[in-house]
Amino acid sequence: MDFQDYKDIWVFIEEKDGVIAPVSLELLGAGRKLADKRASNLAGVLIGENVKNLASTIFEYGADIVYVYDQPIFKHYRTESFMKALLDCSNKYKPEIILYGATSTGKDLASAVATDLPTGLTADTTELDVEEETGLLLASRPAFGGNIMATILCKKYRPQMATVRAKVMKALTPVRGRMGKVIEENIALAEEDIRTKVLEIVKETTKKVRIDEADIIVAGGKGLGSAEGFQIIHRLAETLGGVVGASRDVVEAGWVPHAHQVGQAGVTVTPKIYFAIGISGAIQHIVGMKNSGLIIAINKDSEAPIFESCHYGIVGDAFEIVPILIEEFKNALT
Ligand code: FAD
Repeated sequence: MDFQDYKDIWVFIEEKDGVIAPVSLELLGAGRKLADKRASNLAGVLIGENVKNLASTIFEYGADIVYVYDQPIFKHYRTESFMKALLDCSNKYKPEIILYGATSTGKDLASAVATDLPTGLTADTTELDVEEETGLLLASRPAFGGNIMATILCKKYRPQMATVRAKVMKALTPVRGRMGKVIEENIALAEEDIRTKVLEIVKETTKKVRIDEADIIVAGGKGLGSAEGFQIIHRLAETLGGVVGASRDVVEAGWVPHAHQVGQAGVTVTPKIYFAIGISGAIQHIVGMKNSGLIIAINKDSEAPIFESCHYGIVGDAFEIVPILIEEFKNALT
């Protein structure tokens, strides 16, 4: 394998109903830095039906090139069809690096592509860098139960691939009118060639909590003692117009559903304000919230590790402090 043949940084652009997934814009921000370091191009790979018009947004967020596969067969995401398009593009233009969002679509597609290309895939990355000289991707993620950060390298094969968690990279401020090169591609793919058929799209009717989109998260831990004790977290969140977050132990105890779990096995969040109340601060929790704008911890143990990861720490009993905060915020906000 001649590494000289492989160039440019690619981002798989995830799109649904004409809207680009935020994680893809974040990856364009991260990819731009890698491409600048390598003095190479940043490209977006856009696959779908009636998606060509999204290329301008992709340029505005930092790409130099957009490869577009705009065909009716790509109306809905299906592993086989999208994989064939991405393989076609990769085999033709040979990227050095391909990044995907670690969403259900991104993970599915990246792992399918990795089974065909002679290369590996680093899953669930939270930090990215590249060696300027060699182009070696340094993809880091928590490993061994989150106790260490492992940097994973793919030294012998190209392209190098990684899925990246949402909300850990930063999208660039879009530059209105920024232009690039659109390369339209097409593959001969008949509906009969695809084993999966989309029969119906059933929209979720229950409102799902999206803690990854919240500006204020009030998260509670096992220190609240019981589901009843945890109610003060709901009350503080309500007072502040925020949403409830939780540690894994709280979710496992059944006090709140899994959608509220912050951390390695839950959601990565970056709200403006994050309250960690009765949470010890295990590394698996910290990796999911450490990039929050302002972290306020309340814990009765002054030695709790959470105090090493917060901006403001209050040592004391949550059942004494939180009701005071609720009252104070109520007065201040009315
Ligand atoms: P504890 O560690 O029991 O801490 C409770 C805290 O409350 C203590 O610090 C205590 O001093 C304090 N406290 C007690 N009473 C009060 C009071 N009245 N007022 C104020 N403070 C009080 N964890 C996650 O959170 N998210 C994950 O995604 C996650 N993924 C994991 C993945 C793996 C592979 C593994 C091995 C573990 C994972 N964990 C995760 C679990 C993690 O290691 C911790 O066990 C968990 O975060 C601890 O939850 P906690 O802080 O609520 O509970």
